[in-house]
Amino acid sequence: MNWFGNLFFPGRCSGCGELLSFKGFVKQDEDQTPLCASCRTKWEDEKQERCGFCNSPISSCLCLTDEMRRAGCLGFCKLSYYRHGTREPVPNRLIFQIKDHRNREAVRFLAGELAPRIRAMLEQQGIPDSETVLTYLPRGLFARFESGTDQAKALCRALSEELQIPAMQLIRRSPFHNKQQKRLSFPERKKNAQKAFSVRMDRRAEDKYVILVDDLVTTGSGMAVCAKRLGKAGARAVLCAAIASDDANREPVAEQPHFTAAQGTRFFG
Ligand SMILES: [Zn+2]
Ligand SMILES: [Zn+2]
Repeated sequence: MNWFGNLFFPGRCSGCGELLSFKGFVKQDEDQTPLCASCRTKWEDEKQERCGFCNSPISSCLCLTDEMRRAGCLGFCKLSYYRHGTREPVPNRLIFQIKDHRNREAVRFLAGELAPRIRAMLEQQGIPDSETVLTYLPRGLFARFESGTDQAKALCRALSEELQIPAMQLIRRSPFHNKQQKRLSFPERKKNAQKAFSVRMDRRAEDKYVILVDDLVTTGSGMAVCAKRLGKAGARAVLCAAIASDDANREPVAEQPHFTAAQGTRFFG
């Protein structure tokens, strides 16, 4: 919000809804935090939560979900965990704000937070910006109609501005398979994602590293399906980025063996 907007419409904290104090005549690119001091502290704490796989703070870990790993994705950067069945934690509230409230300040803030993590992931993999494009997993028609926005698209655009990496719409979502992933069981998610998403390749993305953006990753089925299809369509490799990863991805789960030892080695690919 610019100073004019700030003066007449003092913002509310995206975490707790408290009125934010007047920030003064700040320039557009300064002090864009849509959180009060207390929620800001909670948000910083959430980013320090440890990943159960690599023990790094979640905001600097690149661990993939099982689905992403099987699809051959190179890395998955995120800022926090998302806790199911509650709106209380600040990451949940921020996601709710960008989804159902079209909160542009929150989108800008989150893109500003995620961009350096994406940059670090690219550097770690030795991938130059010039070889990279951004794309996103589009909302279903119903979800877009319900909330009036596509938060993944908004986030992708804001990231493109922050990173100066081109954003393209490479993924389409079928209007006929419009079930919302969040309402489905895990096996159903995979099936639904296979039907729902298709890739329309852009010549400019061929042989490039594609960064798939979404707001929240649960199992990563949607990302995995899109990553495989992008690979077939000519992308060099796929990386993933999201605001939050489901809390269920925090701990290594005891793998259920698909085969007994007598049947041979289990295939992990
Ligand atoms: Zn607050
Ligand atoms: Zn990790």
